Amino acid sequence: MKAILIEKPEEKQIVSLQDVPDAQLPEGDVLVDVAYSTMNYKDALAITGASPVVRRFPMVPGIDFSGTVAESSHPDFKPGDRVMLNGWGVGETHWGGLAERARVKGDWLIPLPAAIDPRQAAAIGTAGYTAMLCVMALERQGVTPDKGEIVVSGAAGGVGSVATALLAAGGYEVVAVTGRPAETEYLRGLGAASVIDRTELTGKTRALARERWASGIDVAGSTVLANMLSMIKYGGAVASCGLAAGMDLPASVAPFILRGVTLAGVDSVMCPKPDRLEAWSRLARDLDLGKLEEMITEVPFAEVIDTARQFLDGAVRGRIVVPIS
Ligand code: NDP
Repeated sequence: MKAILIEKPEEKQIVSLQDVPDAQLPEGDVLVDVAYSTMNYKDALAITGASPVVRRFPMVPGIDFSGTVAESSHPDFKPGDRVMLNGWGVGETHWGGLAERARVKGDWLIPLPAAIDPRQAAAIGTAGYTAMLCVMALERQGVTPDKGEIVVSGAAGGVGSVATALLAAGGYEVVAVTGRPAETEYLRGLGAASVIDRTELTGKTRALARERWASGIDVAGSTVLANMLSMIKYGGAVASCGLAAGMDLPASVAPFILRGVTLAGVDSVMCPKPDRLEAWSRLARDLDLGKLEEMITEVPFAEVIDTARQFLDGAVRGRIVVPIS
């Protein structure tokens, strides 16, 4: 099978597209013929080696894939079933989706919802499913469209694009934050009510600033999240899922203790299966597939390695889909 392989013979990792014998696939009770994989921020980190995402070598990256079951000894799956996978350490500690075949634990797989085809499932991928988890986390805190505007950082990226489209479809007034003003029309097309420049959230953080938004979804961390928290209205909530700006959080407790603001953490990798199934059934129901199409850039398998470098430079918009076979 063809696969992207990350090897680390010495200090520096080497990444190449090569033929790998199927016999080298890791243990697992389901073998999947991969139709599509994707590239998320984490995959770009893994392929470039910019961050220690890969924990075992050699590794096939790709935290998402969709495809068809080829062989199964798992009771829930049989050959021909259409499935997808997001996370569970796949592409980090277990060979992932950027290969023609993947052998995984059946417990990690999710049946493809009827309304979504394998290409759309990949396009949504971890980024889109995380966007849905963020929306669900905010709902648990009582956030509803009538409470007021919701701010979304990194809006032109993968999580941000899907979050913007989902929230707009759900009746929210979305304030999209971007570092790329050239993407304003794209963001309005996804349903953003307004688009603001990232610099409004990158200045020096104050403990409390003027109350601006009822709630927020943050993919950036660091000063972006700190500033966002300081500007959330009394009783509001923010879902934090990312670190595109940094892992630190130079904030104060003032928004929590003086405005009753809630910070909700979101993890997609080890997220329990019932929440995943709920997120995917909501995505199948609520995400406008026409808007999803606007987010997609297809990258040929042979160009994935080069694209990973551009990805980390913030040059990629929306979602990258990689047709495999
Ligand atoms: P993308 O690269 O597609 O999107 C990230 C976006 O963040 C960029 O497009 C850019 O948007 C914005 N951005 C980039 N650099 C900065 C910066 N320095 N300051 C502020 N904003 C910045 O990545 P994904 O959407 O795939 O992932 C987003 C984040 O969420 C990543 O950190 C990723 O690791 C994390 N993540 C976490 C998950 C979890 O389980 N918790 C799951 C999935 C993703 P713009 O140009 O519009 O400003």
